[in-house]
Amino acid sequence: MYDYDLLVVGSANADLVIAVERRPGPGETVLGSGLAVHPGGKGANQAVAAARLGGRTALLARLGHDPYGRLLLDSLRTSGVDTVGVLVGGAPTGVALITVDPSGDNSIVVAPGANALLTPDDVRAAASLFHASRVVSAQLEIPLETVVEVVRSLPPDTRFVLNPSPPRPLPPEVLAVCDPLIVNEHEAKVVLGDSCVSAEPSDWARLLLAKGPRSVVVTLGAEGALVASGGGTVRVPPVEVRAVDTTGAGDAFTAALAWQLGTGASLGEAAAYAARVGAAAVTRQGAQESFPTEAEVAAL
Ligand code: ADP
Repeated sequence: MYDYDLLVVGSANADLVIAVERRPGPGETVLGSGLAVHPGGKGANQAVAAARLGGRTALLARLGHDPYGRLLLDSLRTSGVDTVGVLVGGAPTGVALITVDPSGDNSIVVAPGANALLTPDDVRAAASLFHASRVVSAQLEIPLETVVEVVRSLPPDTRFVLNPSPPRPLPPEVLAVCDPLIVNEHEAKVVLGDSCVSAEPSDWARLLLAKGPRSVVVTLGAEGALVASGGGTVRVPPVEVRAVDTTGAGDAFTAALAWQLGTGASLGEAAAYAARVGAAAVTRQGAQESFPTEAEVAAL
């Protein structure tokens, strides 16, 4: 009945990465390694992750009419993402300038570019995509008013999954439809704000649920995750792997969970599968390059 298991609404960026001995201070210039350019942005990452697992996936995003935009379109199409909803033009493709030092710490500056021009009107114009999708997922690298319009555009039987990243306080209208709201530790604290009265992740899950979402998932890195819904809180054990690079783990986890919900899995089943996908993603370098196929997840 549905054409897509998952419609992702979100950002697409070119990640420009330079390795440096140390990150520059104010007024300082340092020489780094050669420049590496990778397709990224949380929306594109989620879409690629779900499609690589075999999910029927579409992306609603905005790119510039430039070589970085073409790089992103290539990566999306090669992974099997339907790009019918990818809009082109109006501003340059979003860019993230990333410097990484030998300890793995990074500094990132983002120019949102075309992502900032993904408007509520673009969402309204994509109504047919929303009606064709079992699950819609979003993040916060696009304007919040656009995410609000996504929520207003959801058909009655379409499920909504939100990873509020980068985090900010969320309006009750958005919180109320999240099923689930997926947060890591940092995002949980920002969304909870003054109501973050505990250091215990299981308390965050409970306190977040009290803010209105139908369900909440707290991701805990190598510790796995917590799933909270009306029926209580359940721990999702981690899958033990040798972590090489955790970039994109949260995007892979969220995409896998949303896709599994789109194929009819329960939230608990979807979160357990997502933990395997997140674990597989940390065993390889990079974001999109590290996302596993279904067969690689099964072999884990
Ligand atoms: P984010 O990237 O948003 O901070 P996390 O680091 O919590 O998200 O990772 C998302 C999920 O990926 C975790 O809930 C877990 O299931 C999996 N994961 C992340 N890091 C590891 C790890 N070192 N070992 C096993 N699984 C991991």
